[in-house]
Amino acid sequence: MKIGFSAAQEQFRNEVATWLAEQLSGPYADLRGVSSHTAMVERRRVWEAELGRARLSSVGWPVEWGGRGASLAEQVIFAEEYARAKAPSRLNHLGVELLAPTLLSYGTEAQKTRFLEPIVMGKEIWCQGYSEPNAGSDLANVATRARLESGPNGDEWVIDGQKIWTSLAAFADWIFVLCRTEEGSRGNRGLSYLLVPMHQAGVTVRPIREMTGHAEFNETFFTGARTAAANIVGAPGEGWKVAMATLAFERGVSTLAQQMDFTNEFEALVKAAQANGQATDPLIRQRIAEASIGLSVMRYSALRMLTNAESGALSHEAFTYRLYWGVWRKKLGELAMDVLGPSGEYAHGDSPLAHDLQHMFLFSRSDTIYGGTSQIQRNQIAERALGLPKEPRGN
Ligand SMILES: Cc1cc2nc3c(=O)[nH]c(=O)nc-3n(C[C@H](O)[C@H](O)[C@H](O)COP(=O)(O)OP(=O)(O)OC[C@H]3O[C@@H](n4cnc5c(N)ncnc54)[C@H](O)[C@@H]3O)c2cc1C
Repeated sequence: MKIGFSAAQEQFRNEVATWLAEQLSGPYADLRGVSSHTAMVERRRVWEAELGRARLSSVGWPVEWGGRGASLAEQVIFAEEYARAKAPSRLNHLGVELLAPTLLSYGTEAQKTRFLEPIVMGKEIWCQGYSEPNAGSDLANVATRARLESGPNGDEWVIDGQKIWTSLAAFADWIFVLCRTEEGSRGNRGLSYLLVPMHQAGVTVRPIREMTGHAEFNETFFTGARTAAANIVGAPGEGWKVAMATLAFERGVSTLAQQMDFTNEFEALVKAAQANGQATDPLIRQRIAEASIGLSVMRYSALRMLTNAESGALSHEAFTYRLYWGVWRKKLGELAMDVLGPSGEYAHGDSPLAHDLQHMFLFSRSDTIYGGTSQIQRNQIAERALGLPKEPRGN
């Protein structure tokens, strides 16, 4: 196993770091440090386009589709530098990191031509329509339905049902929807993966206010919503296979990229502890040391995964990595609250730093839920990585 990056990869790192530093101290200085997913949406659309013009929106995509054909290691380098530069959170994260790789693997040439360029240039923002009130961990239970109908615009899918926890739906232009297209089907059979425009009368979005005070996710209702018959990824009834591929992207390389964000948060916590004297408390010091060790474990795990991923895909180790960081960050949030002490309990902290750590604490509660809960990740490790007997399922 090789630990570390090659000279060529470090050169790529320099190029990215220089470009980001120029942009974020110059024309986009106002976006530096913007981490809320719901803030400065229009400016962040412009930033997405700037990244696209520099071919830095999606470095891992093939060159012909606006990327750089970058290796997994280079994708991680890009993400590390992106976070180190405190560049704004990616408005089109779900388009760039989930839908686009899915289209590159399963989409038709016409779909790639239609959808990839607007993603790379930030012209169309995407959201993910998987979860429903009765389908979360048990995703195969989705009840949203779609049927093919002929009409004045040609054949179209007509969609009825409800999704929930749809991040960014309030801004998104399109949604990828897992829905049932075979009448009477159950479980993971008879599902399809549709691409549906959000701006139409049949789609209603109702924001859900979270304990952070923001409304990043939403309920999404489909009442006779329509999309062209061609906007299906994979064959009708093959939606489960495509949806699982998207989930693999969600749990894979895109999570490797978060390391530098975690480092930034860890450093903010240490700074707060030094500022208010908590850094001299022996028990707090121990927990800070433990958090620091966890960061190193994640870094070396990531490097190990990268060096084992010559084929371009992540191995089963990615499952343990996803589980580990979710649990680690939740503990970091709890430590942050103990470091802040009583001032951490105010809804508005007495300094911006305190507020960032409060937000981190509150948001980190969701790190062991989204993209598959920790319990589900453990089931995946048991069944898929260790080959243990499958959990009994109801259908
Ligand atoms: C911040 C955030 C953003 C999100 N964004 C999106 C989005 O954009 N689009 C989208 O579609 N969804 C989104 N989700 C939803 C997310 O995918 C679901 O919350 C998740 O899959 C869990 O489903 P659930 O909430 O219905 O919990 P449930 O599935 O009801 O689970 C409840 C509890 O039961 C446990 N449990 C369930 N089944 C098992 C089992 N078989 N074995 C052991 N334990 C089990 C779970 O681990 C959990 O602790 C988001 C969630 C969060 C928190």
